Amino acid sequence: MIDDWSPHFWRGRKATECLVLHYTANESLAEAVDMMRARGVSAHYIVGIDGETRRLVRERDRAWHAGQSAWNGKDQVNQRSIGIELVNFGWGEALEQGHIRRTEDGALRLAASPPVAVRDDRPDSAGFVWAAFPEAQMLAVLELVRAVVGRQKLDPTQVIGHEHVAPGRKRDPGPGFPWPRITAALARVSHRERPVARAVQSHCTRLGFPPAGGIDGAWGAGTEAVIARLVARHGAYYGLTAPGKSWAARRAFAELLRTIPG
Ligand SMILES: [Zn+2]
Repeated sequence: MIDDWSPHFWRGRKATECLVLHYTANESLAEAVDMMRARGVSAHYIVGIDGETRRLVRERDRAWHAGQSAWNGKDQVNQRSIGIELVNFGWGEALEQGHIRRTEDGALRLAASPPVAVRDDRPDSAGFVWAAFPEAQMLAVLELVRAVVGRQKLDPTQVIGHEHVAPGRKRDPGPGFPWPRITAALARVSHRERPVARAVQSHCTRLGFPPAGGIDGAWGAGTEAVIARLVARHGAYYGLTAPGKSWAARRAFAELLRTIPG
């Protein structure tokens, strides 16, 4: 781990209620760090395609990664989160020979990484393909996520994406990110009921099914009702069924909701 401190942060943070994963939409760590500096944004960590990891902001401080955002029924996610940037090309159009391209600022960009198969039934991303996250990078990401979750005492369902806290505005890390590997890497971390309930309520809200009682961390009839509607809408495509009364099944349900793009 290399320290490469960013000038873009504020001292202190209100709480740690989630760990937010992003992609940089490019494929070079050095270029991504320069771009973040130029735009006046930051994250706590950045992980390159080869697994090289840099620490940009201390975990106790507030990095500028989420922008306008909400989670757990609260805005200003930067006040309540750790942010990790993953160097990754993101989305594009598929070319023959398995390449991905995207036109950005009038220039054509071609990805070095191959596309990965995804489940995505949204009409507004029809024709998109997404760049794979290489194995060397994923091993570094899983190690870093495990360490942050341990230090910050997070529930595994509190590891989420920028797309989950800014739905409609942000797409990262996108349906190409292998969320089941995060689930597997954190399988032994014990779960806590309120964060699991809040995660389910927050995902239902971003997918257009807000619980009547708001995001209160209490699993009641209102939560059951929106889950029934969400399962009726997305269940068949994404293999979702209502989780019932066991907290282990509810946590697995929250982890599955994380893979559904909004
Ligand atoms: Zn982002």
